[in-house]
Amino acid sequence: MTTTTDLAVDTVTDPDVKAGYGTDESVGATAPADFEVVRARDLADVVEVMRWAHETRTPVVPQGARSSLTGSSVAIDGGIVLNTERMASVTTIDPLEGIAVCGPGVVNKQLKDAVAEHGMFYPPDPASSAFCTIGGNVATNAGGLCCVKYGVTADYVRSLQVVLAGGEVIRTGHRTAKGTAGLDLTGLFVGSEGTLGVVTEVTTRIIPAPDPALTVLATFDLLDAASAAIVALRRERHVPSLVELMDRAAVAAVQSLADYGFPSDCEAVLLVQSDRPGHTGEDVQRYAGLLTDAGATEVAVADDPAEADLLLAGRRALSPALEAKGPRYLEDVCVPVGRLTDLIREGQRIAADSGLEIVMAGHAGDGNLHPSIFFSPDDPGSRERAHAAFSQVVTTALGMGGTITGEHGVGTLKAPWLAEELGTAELERQRAVKAVFDPRGVLNPGRVYWS
Ligand SMILES: Cc1cc2nc3c(=O)[nH]c(=O)nc-3n(C[C@H](O)[C@H](O)[C@H](O)COP(=O)(O)OP(=O)(O)OC[C@H]3O[C@@H](n4cnc5c(N)ncnc54)[C@H](O)[C@@H]3O)c2cc1C
Repeated sequence: MTTTTDLAVDTVTDPDVKAGYGTDESVGATAPADFEVVRARDLADVVEVMRWAHETRTPVVPQGARSSLTGSSVAIDGGIVLNTERMASVTTIDPLEGIAVCGPGVVNKQLKDAVAEHGMFYPPDPASSAFCTIGGNVATNAGGLCCVKYGVTADYVRSLQVVLAGGEVIRTGHRTAKGTAGLDLTGLFVGSEGTLGVVTEVTTRIIPAPDPALTVLATFDLLDAASAAIVALRRERHVPSLVELMDRAAVAAVQSLADYGFPSDCEAVLLVQSDRPGHTGEDVQRYAGLLTDAGATEVAVADDPAEADLLLAGRRALSPALEAKGPRYLEDVCVPVGRLTDLIREGQRIAADSGLEIVMAGHAGDGNLHPSIFFSPDDPGSRERAHAAFSQVVTTALGMGGTITGEHGVGTLKAPWLAEELGTAELERQRAVKAVFDPRGVLNPGRVYWS
């Protein structure tokens, strides 16, 4: 039998190294018994693997940095992990055309830093920016902290080079500022979670760099007051570049790591930033006024970038603080901004009913929360209750006119609810589109569409 070791590609043979490519960051992810790993060096490697996989009907999991929180980059039994981290060059930065061109393995922060040297800005900023790849960001349509002003990855991708199942190479979209020729296949590939093709080059829009951000931190004794503040900020003419919320439990988790200066007795904390060129000082003063009028009990304004960074340090510490608390289901629902408080209250009710701790935090300016539902690994009953609570949060969001995933994607974790959100007719059309690009179903099977 032929295996990838017979191809002219870099197949990982060391079992320990291979094991490292087996799982991602999703809850309970485990590597299957039998899988191969190819670390693609260039386009030719990807073509070779995709041609062979199609011929032999072997499943392929395109993979970046394995930071997926939904199980979308876990190896598949009997399949190939096709990792694109090594395709990591930034080949073009063109401030005049407002574009950068890079390989899929470029790390998000690496691209941000590279374009910053030219006075430019690549806005999408997942909290995993320091290690996740642009290929993974494109495949998940990654969001992040500054989406409230700048949007998500899809708002920046102009053109893609993609290798299809069977090895055919196509280029989608356009490099120019405008372009309406034909269907938007770029948009189709963005967010397709490795189910339609392997992204081998990304042309993305970049914009002139904003000013270093200034920050306002506000604490609230009442959730309704925090909610009124978010609504007031959404109505602002000069949209904040960040509006993040942490509930009481999130504040307590962060404070248990170190003293970030948050009060212990508040119901919610809001962090708000402005990076508007020439107006950051004026904006944060105005936001401070809005937050006070909405009922904030304390408002702190950082009027220089270093202090602004310090105020945000507590928010940055949230992921490690929650990691330290133990295993959890991490949610990613997104609801209309006006329903955010209802979602938080419902989360609190679900926590009380299930006897589990649920920590609420996230990108409040987008209505995108990441409730963390904690369970005890030694107690199967607690894990079952956590899964049931997870399901309740998802259906609550759908009931509010929201979505099952704001930015992390569907993967395997959210696949059971996809039909509920899309409806049968749309789901069938989406499956038909998948079959056009991947007729033998070799690309990331079992993810997103179940088959
Ligand atoms: C601490 C932490 C914080 C996070 N914060 C955020 C956040 O704020 N916002 C957010 O959106 N996400 C966040 N994430 C989730 C994750 O980082 C993103 O989904 C990210 O885009 C995944 O990138 P990756 O390189 O790790 O991709 P992987 O996890 O390796 O893969 C993710 C998906 O992309 C596909 N894929 C990867 N490379 C390619 C390619 N070249 N071609 C085709 N498909 C490909 C995979 O098949 C899979 O479906 C966070 C994760 C962690 C661990």
